[in-house]
Formats: sequence, structure tokens, C-alpha cells
Amino acid sequence: MRKKIVAGNWKMNKTLQEGLSFSNELKGLLDNKTINCEVIIGTPFIHLSEVAKVFDGTKIHVAAQNCANKESGAYTGEVSAAMVASTGAKHVILGHSERRAYYHETPELLKDKVLLALSNNLTPIFCVGEVLNERESDKHFEVVAAQLKDSLFKLSKEDFAKLIIAYEPVWAIGTGKTASAEQAQEMHAFIRKTISEKYGEEIADNTSILYGGSCNAGNAKELFSNPDVDGGLIGGASLEPVKFLPIIEAIN
Ligand code: PEP
Repeated sequence: MRKKIVAGNWKMNKTLQEGLSFSNELKGLLDNKTINCEVIIGTPFIHLSEVAKVFDGTKIHVAAQNCANKESGAYTGEVSAAMVASTGAKHVILGHSERRAYYHETPELLKDKVLLALSNNLTPIFCVGEVLNERESDKHFEVVAAQLKDSLFKLSKEDFAKLIIAYEPVWAIGTGKTASAEQAQEMHAFIRKTISEKYGEEIADNTSILYGGSCNAGNAKELFSNPDVDGGLIGGASLEPVKFLPIIEAIN
């Protein structure tokens, strides 16, 4: 059975002290609550080890938001998958639209990052999604299928089975314009069908597909009630424990 997951993405927000204060507050809020999903917090690199320590022994995991496309060596400023794993992080967000757009991350480079993450026992949360004009010109299915094929469909069945996918329509990220529950379900079902055609029904059924894009306490329940939406990747609303908690609780 695929897992239900709510993952936060802090992006480039929070000092280390602010990150620790968030983590201790969230841990306190979740104490003695029954949570029906896995919770993952995507922090900047420098927070990973300290935040992982706060959540040690709980069901909350920590994710990096990126890793290098090289194993090690003279790549000033880069952070390798092995370094991320050494902090206690279990996941890494890859292919986020901000990394594709601002840092020109290509499908080939993303494939290399996914393989390095997997070989270091990190679970990639791999983001796909169309920009507004691609949706308006009815190219969204084609675009998302190409993003899957160009980076992920070169993986073995065994490796693909370890991934988490996040559908994040770029026009919904940070804009307050959420995809409707119908639009999310339609795309998630399409992604699952595309995975099934490549790797078979069992792998497709077991792949968690998260929705991301202006998801918040007000719309999470409706989005998550769709059969192919297995949770969310949350940006802005993951920055405050009191806003993030109801999204976690929206999974039942
Ligand atoms: C994101 O950046 O992954 C995201 C979903 O952001 P937001 O929730 O702020 O739209």
C-alpha cells in the first residue's frame, strides 16, 4: 500500500534558531496526537542535522531541498547526497520548479541527482508540473509525461519503486491559486497511468503522488480526499506550525 505523506518545503527561509524553534513547537503540537500520515520537513542544508536530532525517535523525517549531481570533489559550494544522508535526513526534494527555472536544472542532471540520492539511501521527492501557458494551451499532460520520462523512466523498476512523486503545477506555487480537486485528481490519475504503462500496475499503485501548489488548511481536506492524491508538498503553509498542523490532520 502506498503511503500518505505531508511534506513541508521551507525553501530559503528560517535561520537555524528559527528552524529549531519551529521544530520543537511542531513536535510539541504532535505529541499525543494520532497522525495518519508520514510527515517530512524540507529544510535548508544547514538545518538538517540539528532538526533531525529534534525529531529523532518520532515519525517525523527531515528532507534536503537539493543535492549535488556529483559524488564528491572540487565542486565549491555544493552538498553531496552522501553528506545529506550523514545528517540523518531520509529524503531529498529534487526537480522543484524553482530549481528547474532559476538554476537551469535539466532532465539529464536531475536523473543523475536521483541516482546519487538513491545510492545514498535517500528517498527522492521528485517534482513535476506545467507552467501556466502550457496548461492554457492544453499541453499539461504532455509536459508532465515528458518530465517523468526524461528523468525517471531510465531507472530500473527496483529504483523507481523507491520514489515519491509530487505534482506541482507551477502556476499554483506560491500564487494562492490552487488546482481544483478535479484538476489535481485528473493529473494524478494520469501520472499513475503513465507509471503503470512503464513499470506495471503494482508499482504505479504503490507510488505516493503528492499535490503541491498553494495547499493550505482550507483546501487540504478536499484535495487529499481524491483517490490518487496521497498527500501534499507544502511551501508557504509549512512555515508556521499552527498552519502546518491542520494540513497534517487533513489526512485521514
Ligand atoms: C512548493 O514550493 O513546493 C509549494 C508547494 O509552495 P506553496 O505551497 O507555497 O505554493
